[in-house]
Amino acid sequence: MAYHILLLASLGIWLSNASPATISKRAALDDCLKTASVPTLASGSADYTQSLKPFNLRVTFKPAAYAVPATVKHVQDAVACGAKNSVQVTAKSGGHSYGSHGLGGEDGHLIVDMRNFASVTVDQTAQTAVIGTGGRLGDVATALYSQGKQAISHGTCPGVGVGGLSLHGGYGLISRLKGLTLDNILSADVVLANSTLVTASPTQNADLFWALRGAGAAFGIVTNFKFRTFTAPESNIVFNYYFSPSSATALATALTALQDFTRNSQPPELNMRLFLSGFTTFSGVYYGTRADYDKLMNPLLSKMGISSGSVSTNTWLNTLTSFSNGPLKQVTPYDTHENFFAKSLMPEYLSPAAITALSNYWSANARSNSRSWYLLFDCHGGKGSAISNVSADATAYAHRNATFKMQFYDRIYNGNYDSSWFGFLNGWIKAISDASPGVNFGMYINYADTSLTKDEAHSHYWLGNYEKLTKLKAVWDPTKVFEGPQLVGS
Ligand SMILES: Cc1cc2nc3c(=O)[nH]c(=O)nc-3n(C[C@H](O)[C@H](O)[C@H](O)COP(=O)(O)OP(=O)(O)OC[C@H]3O[C@@H](n4cnc5c(N)ncnc54)[C@H](O)[C@@H]3O)c2cc1C
Repeated sequence: MAYHILLLASLGIWLSNASPATISKRAALDDCLKTASVPTLASGSADYTQSLKPFNLRVTFKPAAYAVPATVKHVQDAVACGAKNSVQVTAKSGGHSYGSHGLGGEDGHLIVDMRNFASVTVDQTAQTAVIGTGGRLGDVATALYSQGKQAISHGTCPGVGVGGLSLHGGYGLISRLKGLTLDNILSADVVLANSTLVTASPTQNADLFWALRGAGAAFGIVTNFKFRTFTAPESNIVFNYYFSPSSATALATALTALQDFTRNSQPPELNMRLFLSGFTTFSGVYYGTRADYDKLMNPLLSKMGISSGSVSTNTWLNTLTSFSNGPLKQVTPYDTHENFFAKSLMPEYLSPAAITALSNYWSANARSNSRSWYLLFDCHGGKGSAISNVSADATAYAHRNATFKMQFYDRIYNGNYDSSWFGFLNGWIKAISDASPGVNFGMYINYADTSLTKDEAHSHYWLGNYEKLTKLKAVWDPTKVFEGPQLVGS
């Protein structure tokens, strides 16, 4: 009795708005976690408060409880406690979801923070690595490299968690050559909704393995992955050009040339992106000789109207650092945040009308926006991309044929991003969509768009794979333990 009184007294603000039923559910959950000896963070402690700060400070949630398991058994017990008390369970890795899906994407979830599952063990002979899902990319890359100069294909930001990135995509500086992060998963150990631990691979629970690679958050808590690794390339051409389109027509000309090149001529060894903003850059990495690079790039640069920039030759770790906005090694507690709204588009092809609409919107609305916005075009697909050489239904990731991975991002550095500003990016997507009748553009859940309804999210994130995913959800999580506002089956 005394324990419950103390417990209830410590629940603070979360409870002040909660109903009696919610309060008793929360107490039962805490009791269950305590009985099973699952480590948790006390509400109001410094670690708890810090852990609830997501990368996107605009989108914050209050969990029912916050577990920090140290063993797989703890993860299993946490899932069992959530299921028993009808509290949705959410795994958190790096906390970088744009919609704070690692905090549940809504109030009231049991968070299972995988921070203690961050080991990286390389088998240098087999060129494989077992990687815990709680590690951050910069630390993972460094640990892989220290064990026989191994590497995997992954994203650019060193603070992103390997868990969320790998389960929903994972595009980075070598993806056109080596595929997405999820294309290099050989197997995954998963705690299911019924709290059993299974391995998913092409030969074990193959349908679960299919779903995990693109929609993983809705199917279980992955404790570790086994990845295929490669020996890090050490002589890489890193380029960064400056680009100032003088008008909507100049931007449209550059985008048309870039799209044509990416679709038809961009080889796997060339990875690049156009970052359109107040300052605009065209940057990337080429894994080949300088002579071949010049032969490939000079005609494209000329068509795009780009003349100034820098080209250097870098080792693997320096290549990663060139794009990481800071050191690879991450500090604890992690405390880098932004305040923003973001959207994405994964177009297979932007018609001339769509490119014109995009460019006109940029000229009329973006150039005069004084907030820190950007539109990033990652040259994701096309004939020469390892991503597009996998069929769209081979994994749950549905965007194989997307030429560009486009990220629309609008942020402020002081104060809170106001919802009245959503119209800026929503309007940009609308302009492109209105110019593209009949096209259902894909969107990337790793750039979660909080303004989408459930149905919009399901349709845009998973396209033609969604129906199969709902069937698998009914098999692997029939009681919907792993739910979130935009996840499969929610
Ligand atoms: C600064 C920045 C840079 C980025 N750069 C890139 C990039 O270069 N390329 C790219 O592809 N993406 C990039 N992203 C997007 C990034 O891939 C996603 O935000 C990703 O989901 C973050 O993963 P996380 O583990 O850090 O986030 P979290 O918020 O912890 O998790 C995201 C989702 O994954 C689920 N999840 C996490 N761990 C597990 C697990 N172990 N088992 C089951 N489900 C789990 C969570 O429940 C949640 O639904 C970037 C994001 C940011 C903020």
